[in-house]
Amino acid sequence: MSHFSYRNGVLHAEQVSLDALARQYGSPLYVYSKAALVENFSAYADACRKAGRDSEGALICYSVKSNSNLAVLNLLGQQGSGFDIVSGGELLRVIAAGGDPRKVIFSGVGKGRDEMKLALQHDILCFNVESIPELHRLNEVAGEAGKRARISLRVNPNVDAKTHPYISTGLKENKFGVAYEDALDCYRTAASLPNIEVVGIDCHIGSQLLDDAPLLEALDKVIELIDQLAAENIHVHHLDIGGGIGITYDDEKPVAIGDYLARLFARVDAWRKEKYAGAAIKVMFEPGRSIVGNAGVLVTEVQYLKHSEAKNFAVVDAAMNDLMRPAMYQAWHGVQTVRQEQNGAQVYDVVGPVCESGDWLARERELAIQPGDLLALTSAGAYGMTMASNYNTRGRAAEVLVDGERAHLIRKRENPADLFALESIVS
Ligand SMILES: *Cc1c(COP(=O)(O)O)cnc(C)c1O
Repeated sequence: MSHFSYRNGVLHAEQVSLDALARQYGSPLYVYSKAALVENFSAYADACRKAGRDSEGALICYSVKSNSNLAVLNLLGQQGSGFDIVSGGELLRVIAAGGDPRKVIFSGVGKGRDEMKLALQHDILCFNVESIPELHRLNEVAGEAGKRARISLRVNPNVDAKTHPYISTGLKENKFGVAYEDALDCYRTAASLPNIEVVGIDCHIGSQLLDDAPLLEALDKVIELIDQLAAENIHVHHLDIGGGIGITYDDEKPVAIGDYLARLFARVDAWRKEKYAGAAIKVMFEPGRSIVGNAGVLVTEVQYLKHSEAKNFAVVDAAMNDLMRPAMYQAWHGVQTVRQEQNGAQVYDVVGPVCESGDWLARERELAIQPGDLLALTSAGAYGMTMASNYNTRGRAAEVLVDGERAHLIRKRENPADLFALESIVS
């Protein structure tokens, strides 16, 4: 997290101290670094350029669900990003952020009719269809709207992503995509439907992958399928390999984006040369975590220190409703004191005020802290704020985007009145 570092003993986001930000905007507070976001996106964009691919040859569709703040979407859109959405709400976000709907792909196993209609009205690039019934529904909705829906099928290449079972999506027993063995049949059906236009193929095998071997294995299976389709005169114009590249939370060593993409493009190019006289195919990616994960931290203030016989607890003002990943996946986030070099470290569990034993943010961390001190939970940019809830009638945290020495409030803190504004008493 190179854009978050200590300066004069205080943790900064770029050139702004987290201490000053917490004083100005309160706590808990999500803080993102613009430079980190741009740098992480550029790792993908540069690798595409290096492989000789312009915007027709490759498209990076940022996974909106990982961090969907309008300012983040706007910034990535300006960098040329497309967007991978999983709901109609996310499409409206992309549009509100100035993103281009014609660079939007729509994933997800449960697309509703209204969501399909909305996406067709905005002429999105492609629906990533995940089942036969979805295909039929989309055909119907497109017919009613007088449109043809561009689709790819999300195939399940049945490779083991070797990641946490909750974030692995490419295995047989998974709810996502169509089974590899059924894919040909599904494509035949798709090709026969009047309001469907087959344009691509996609997969997404899991998340927080440190090694690109499973992704390249999935690529090989996708390539095999494209050849089988071509033999039946069903031609796809793009292949979408999904997202999933991991980040360093603790001491993980994820593959460098540039190396992964170089290997992937080399395989694709060799295959096109061998089988299609070098005719190009557009390659798409759906990265989320690897773009925003390490571009954000969650700042929280220590409220109380509780010492029991078995454990020391640091009760902080952030909780599982702000950062769900530890409670949900036993995920590990780094904990740094905003003020460096303090004495008297003890081992603490960092816990929140929510009334659940599962409400912990970090376990067994050596920290030198006093009530009132600020902590930063690191690598919190992805699946942090987007998974936040109002459990315990807690307003969601504010979000700030730092750009050099300037800080921009990009989402106000929710106040309690916001939380019950849509409710009414039965009289
Ligand atoms: C969540 C998701 C992604 C993004 O995954 P990361 O691990 O954050 O890169 C991409 N594609 C689909 C279909 C997803 O559901």
